[in-house]
Amino acid sequence: MPTVHSTVCPLDCPDTCVLAVTVDEGRVTKIAAGDGHPTTQGFICSKVARFDRRLYHPDRLLHPMRRVGPKGNGDFERVSWDYAIGEINRRFRAITEEWGAEAILPYHYGGSNGILTEGFLDDLYFARLGASRLGKTICAAPTTAVALGMYGKMPGVAYPDYPKAQCIIIWGANPKASSVHLVPYLREAKRNGAFIAVIDPRRNFSRREVDLHLPVRPGADLPLALAMIRCWVDAGRLDRSFLDEQTKGLETLLTYAEEWPLDRAADVTGVAASDIECLAQQYASLSPAVIRCGWGPERNRNGGKAVAAILAMPALLGKFGVRGGGYTMSNNGAMRIRMNEALGDLRWESRTINMSQLGAVLNGSVDPPVKGLFVYNCNPVATVPDQNAVIRGLLREDLFTVVFDQVLTDSAEYADILLPATTFLEHDDISISYGTYVAGGATPVISPCGEARPNADVFAALGRDMKFDDEPFRWPSDSYVRHAAAHLEIGSRPGDHEVFARGDVQRCDFKGGDPVQFETVMPLTADGKIDLAPAALGATPYGFDPVESARYPLALITPSTPRLVSSTLGEFNYDELVATLHPEDAAARNVSDGDVVRIFNDLGEVICRAEVRSAVRPGVVSMPKGAWRKSSRNGSTSTALCPDDVNVVGGGACFNDARVEVEQRLSVENTG
Ligand code: SF4
Repeated sequence: MPTVHSTVCPLDCPDTCVLAVTVDEGRVTKIAAGDGHPTTQGFICSKVARFDRRLYHPDRLLHPMRRVGPKGNGDFERVSWDYAIGEINRRFRAITEEWGAEAILPYHYGGSNGILTEGFLDDLYFARLGASRLGKTICAAPTTAVALGMYGKMPGVAYPDYPKAQCIIIWGANPKASSVHLVPYLREAKRNGAFIAVIDPRRNFSRREVDLHLPVRPGADLPLALAMIRCWVDAGRLDRSFLDEQTKGLETLLTYAEEWPLDRAADVTGVAASDIECLAQQYASLSPAVIRCGWGPERNRNGGKAVAAILAMPALLGKFGVRGGGYTMSNNGAMRIRMNEALGDLRWESRTINMSQLGAVLNGSVDPPVKGLFVYNCNPVATVPDQNAVIRGLLREDLFTVVFDQVLTDSAEYADILLPATTFLEHDDISISYGTYVAGGATPVISPCGEARPNADVFAALGRDMKFDDEPFRWPSDSYVRHAAAHLEIGSRPGDHEVFARGDVQRCDFKGGDPVQFETVMPLTADGKIDLAPAALGATPYGFDPVESARYPLALITPSTPRLVSSTLGEFNYDELVATLHPEDAAARNVSDGDVVRIFNDLGEVICRAEVRSAVRPGVVSMPKGAWRKSSRNGSTSTALCPDDVNVVGGGACFNDARVEVEQRLSVENTG
């Protein structure tokens, strides 16, 4: 008899849905929206609705394994968990003895955003080893540094308040791909008569859905924002009394904005001056007005500064203090886990390695060199800049690599030891939402497939085997949620482990419903003021640094798709890599829709099928974020073309600084 279980989706997505999972004879047969969630609204994305395909995929890792062939060949043989745990610790001890513990690098990201899956007993284990720390910069590092410096991560406008806005700007985000539960609220706002503008090099909304699309050149969000600010200065629109009372750093921002008259901004951004002016006027005139700032604007060398200029806008025009007015960035500032207290003592003072520069790191840029790499919750071969350097590094015979994952990823192919991980449908976890104001509990709805184990259990086993005496390594697995929940702050309340244990969500409690910025929530900076020129912006806070390349005239962007959650689900849900070009760029290169093309620069080349669409602006090539190597015709994907330069703000990855050229190879018919 099928049974239906409640759980919460902890994948790297802002929405944190409640799910109703049907299980029949021990197998998941259906995944649908659950009840009781304020924003799940009775539907989930198609990605997770198909998550059972990951559970039972032929590439699912079911047993610990060790490499038996040459590195990268993907030849493994089954071993026991005891062997795998012992061998990992034996190798780590040997590395520590010869090179020091900093030669070991844990490498992880948001394959699951659950707090038991990452940043829990894994951190304790690596801290006790004295391993290098990881600078988590692949996404959201500049935006986090800016939001923290300017507003102390003040909670933002909640999705359900968007229909109250008269003006909505979606800046560098595609909710249709990566935050689908915002979309119904945008539609409702449109029905209510809101003016909606989208700023993105790619058109993702129809002309019926939005009023204005500004197809900004990749990396030029900063001059666009500064030109709008200058318009407001020239028109006397600044809210001087709000700025005097609530902000500091205004003159610095205005000095840089002065450099961007409309004509210059139009030239650099590729957006018509009249459109920039129109948006500036609409935003200034209409209230409530809300800006949804996505993670697109940060993915370039000017990205942190651009995000700061965008987040300054509601302060400049006094758009706060009303429901539906202000901004939304990451909303997870409303919740906090005091992991230090949960685990007793998490002191960890080793060097920090920027994860976006893994290729250089594995090829000798640090001393001591990295000799042991432990990859979990991520797939760096598919997601980290300079893919060829990452692969070269992983092929090093003197590098001992552990990959702990749910399926045989591109990175897992290079492992010396492979460990099978449970998915969120097979273990307990707690997910703190960064979009909706909830924390939710993932609960196991089926038994683990094969010998797969939860992350926390495995790091506990590694800690015990190392003879570390910390009590958390000996906690029973079924107590993890209780221990973590006790140190979780959800708004002003502690986490409720009983809510999480039944696969439900706990809501943040703001006075009178969702937060109203400058009414029920205030900046959490030290002095309570908005800092319009925070130190995180560096020596030239709003100075623009263009990317110029005569040899490679096209800018490469790699946005989210409705098929992948970053690279998760790439084993089955994105078969063929497709690059999108504008018709003008295609014609100039004799490329037709469906042709096979070579996209290249000095770092590498990608061979894939082209699609010719006016959805991307001229001068831009768009490829999906997170595609796996098997989807491409030469085993290279977009990251093979991305430099590993990092942002001055937060050390973030600069994917959109990739510049490329495209040439036609063969028509599809001729490729056999
Ligand atoms: S990925 Fe996002 S939209 Fe999809 S089920 Fe999970 S939380 Fe919901």
